[in-house]
Amino acid sequence: MHFAIIGQGLAGSSLAIEADKKGHDITCFDLSNENSASRVAIGIINPLVLKNRTLFDKSEMLLSNCLSYYNRIEKTFQKSLLSKNHIREVLFNPSEVSNWNSLSKESSLEKYIGSIETTHKSLSALGLGCVKNSLRLDVKNYLQVIRTWLSEKHRLQEEDVKNVFVSKNEVIVNGQKFDGLLLAEGLIAKWTQKIFRPLQFSPTKGEGLVIETTNTHIDFPVHRNTFLIKENENRYTVGATFNRKYLQTGPSQAGKDSLIQELSYWFQDDFKIVHHWSGLRPTMKDRKICFGWHKEFPNVGFLNGLGSRGAMTSPYYSSLLLAQHKS
Ligand SMILES: Cc1cc2nc3c(=O)[nH]c(=O)nc-3n(C[C@H](O)[C@H](O)[C@H](O)COP(=O)(O)OP(=O)(O)OC[C@H]3O[C@@H](n4cnc5c(N)ncnc54)[C@H](O)[C@@H]3O)c2cc1C
Repeated sequence: MHFAIIGQGLAGSSLAIEADKKGHDITCFDLSNENSASRVAIGIINPLVLKNRTLFDKSEMLLSNCLSYYNRIEKTFQKSLLSKNHIREVLFNPSEVSNWNSLSKESSLEKYIGSIETTHKSLSALGLGCVKNSLRLDVKNYLQVIRTWLSEKHRLQEEDVKNVFVSKNEVIVNGQKFDGLLLAEGLIAKWTQKIFRPLQFSPTKGEGLVIETTNTHIDFPVHRNTFLIKENENRYTVGATFNRKYLQTGPSQAGKDSLIQELSYWFQDDFKIVHHWSGLRPTMKDRKICFGWHKEFPNVGFLNGLGSRGAMTSPYYSSLLLAQHKS
């Protein structure tokens, strides 16, 4: 079958790979937007919800699935995309240290809550709790790898999809005929909502900073309410905030202030801000990922609501959606 895919964020990219794996032909329409969720995502893959030290739903399966998916992409395209430098959680006081130690002995968490390491000179912490099995995906590079592959091997159309017509046997997208359609539009979801139903979004805004510092040498992601992650010799990403009640969509002074405040609790070096960015996570009210095939148009499917964990969840749900296709 020849599928049109609308969107080449994390959802559209893994749908393209999985559809190709099943032997389908694909054409991907994507109006690349610098501020789309995938293009601003930090790329952390972490089965643990650090805020309350619990496990993300189906975390073990999702983690092993995404690991084999990204390893396959790395091998196929000869690119290194995953960094296996584990997250270190900043632990401030003896009670946090003791709590971390007790959680590390719980059978459900022992795979993820690792030992406590000595702190770093740039951090004010009593210890650093290692989050075992956490990873970081180089999202920008991954999206670029898939984009290049799409434009070389398949068809990539960098345009806004303004017209879609669907019937039982065919789909017409911007005047071109296809056998099927996969919708991966993220928060825009114009066609998903027209063809399926209104989606119950409850987006969360995320803001981040890029800072420059000369004396810091921290090679692993550090976390306490926000992340500090090395990008290159002098630059670190700080973020992202979680804000459900935002008043403006772009970067805000309040977002910047809250990041600086969080960081100042535990990061000791001087820094200067070189960039401030923001994006919206496509989260649903019930926090569930939504996907499926249309009852009346069996070759029309969608995947959305990846929320704050698109890097970990998109490979599994893409492959599940394609496995459920009745051709
Ligand atoms: C600040 C921030 C930090 C994040 N950090 C992480 C993280 O560390 N780890 C993690 O796993 N997740 C993270 N996320 C969440 C992750 O980014 C999302 O779960 C994921 O990107 C959603 O992907 P998507 O493909 O569904 O949507 P999107 O990324 O929005 O992609 C949709 C694409 O479809 C295109 N499109 C839509 N409609 C049309 C149309 N009509 N015509 C043409 N093109 C169209 C859009 O331009 C876009 O390129 C973060 C999100 C934010 C905002």
